[in-house]
Amino acid sequence: MTDIAGILERELGSAAVIGPGHERLDDYGRDESPLPEFHPPACAVLVESTEQAAAVLRICKERAVPVSPRGAGSGMCGGALPVPGGIVLSTERMTKIKEIDAGDLVAVVEPGVVTGVLQEAVEAQHMFYPPDPASLAFCSIGGNAATNAGGPRAFKYGVTREYILGLEVALMGGEVLRCGRRTAKGVTGYDLVAGFVGTEGTFGVITELVVKLLPNPPAAATVLAVFADMAGAGAAISALLREGLRPRVLEIADKSSIDHVRPKSRYRFPANAGAVVLLEVDGEPDAMALMMEKIGVRCDDLGALDVLAAHEPADRRALWEARRLISPSLKEAYRVKVNEDICVPRGRIVEMIARVQQVSLETGIDTAVFGHAGDGNLHVNLLSHDDPDDPAVRTKMWAAAERVFAHTIALGGTLSGEHGIGTTKRDYMRMEQSEQVLEWQRRWKLMWDPSNLMNPGKKIPARTKACSE
Ligand SMILES: Cc1cc2nc3c(=O)[nH]c(=O)nc-3n(C[C@H](O)[C@H](O)[C@H](O)COP(=O)(O)OP(=O)(O)OC[C@H]3O[C@@H](n4cnc5c(N)ncnc54)[C@H](O)[C@@H]3O)c2cc1C
Repeated sequence: MTDIAGILERELGSAAVIGPGHERLDDYGRDESPLPEFHPPACAVLVESTEQAAAVLRICKERAVPVSPRGAGSGMCGGALPVPGGIVLSTERMTKIKEIDAGDLVAVVEPGVVTGVLQEAVEAQHMFYPPDPASLAFCSIGGNAATNAGGPRAFKYGVTREYILGLEVALMGGEVLRCGRRTAKGVTGYDLVAGFVGTEGTFGVITELVVKLLPNPPAAATVLAVFADMAGAGAAISALLREGLRPRVLEIADKSSIDHVRPKSRYRFPANAGAVVLLEVDGEPDAMALMMEKIGVRCDDLGALDVLAAHEPADRRALWEARRLISPSLKEAYRVKVNEDICVPRGRIVEMIARVQQVSLETGIDTAVFGHAGDGNLHVNLLSHDDPDDPAVRTKMWAAAERVFAHTIALGGTLSGEHGIGTTKRDYMRMEQSEQVLEWQRRWKLMWDPSNLMNPGKKIPARTKACSE
């Protein structure tokens, strides 16, 4: 058996390699995905430069060792987990912000930079990097590009792909490719950058990114509106969008989510609260004042039980508190929390939430739904007090997830709005995509990685025997 840890230690030095017997090795066999199957990597290699990443990929290609890239390990679908016999290549030490250019409105960064750190650095210079995954305090910008991460502000500003102008990537075998641009526009050649973003480490390792920045909006304000039921919340959202309102954030949460945060939240939800909507607008103060007025009037007209508005950062944070508490409260209350991130056409949100409640009744599994109503991207949480290590519990939870996926697709939706596919959703891909579409994706992957050693087995299901014959 190849002693890949020893070979990499000789090449990069022992400080770069976490090998067998090291107390931290198991950490690289886990991420934030629900009900993962655990096996540690042969080793984890913590690269500090493009050259080191390329050297690792050269060595692994020569020895046919699979490599799984890893940023911060906050992924929720197993994308960064090692494959049997494979290693993990971590970018956690590549944390330099190389350049922030206010004139060109770009930043050049290494992949291990934590997203929130980049946001603070550009905001200190009156600029704005909009993509805001809820994990921004600890996830990496390389991981965001690899998963095409979204966040609450995606409704107005779009997802990570729209902010990646250029990439440097190290490919299996050690070739380094620089593609893309640092200009605001550019249509020269095929768009390799857009094609690479969202590939979940299956094409290569991102070693540098050129990201697009915006001028910081002059002001922002937040509104929390509480409704007796989902139908009321849905009606208010539809009315506001039809009137042309474009909030930067438009979040929704169901009664189960409210009931779980109620004991912890400083905001006292009305006893009959059945749905909550959180909106955020930004722009010039005068335009914002008009938007805030419109939101207040429309929510009142449509029977909101309570509407709160905040302009100052501390007050706005207080309104966000209830939304931010949902996920940790659910995690605390249940031993198993499968957080799916399905996406349905905006007009089907209320129906989708009703269908999730139906799944809950049919399966006896508790649910809580919250998420990004502006994008139709809902976090459907399937919850259980049972033992997560019990195979029967795993089977039951995934069977419920499959029902949720079936309803999603029946409503014209898609399996994943932001987390990606990794391994946890890979085997459901056929519910949504035809064998022809999957086959084109396999061909595309093999163009970048003919040896199929770059994070193999992720993102796309393997060919069935029938179609490989
Ligand atoms: C509490 C919480 C909240 C979250 N909220 C959101 C949210 O709002 N929106 C959202 O989109 N996601 C969210 N996520 C999921 C996760 O944070 C994102 O998917 C994030 O983009 C992953 O970044 P990471 O650095 O942790 O990547 P990892 O988990 O390390 O890796 C994720 C994938 O990217 C690949 N990868 C990582 N780095 C590279 C690289 N340099 N080159 C090539 N491939 C690479 C890996 O192989 C893997 O397939 C959340 C997760 C948690 C735990």
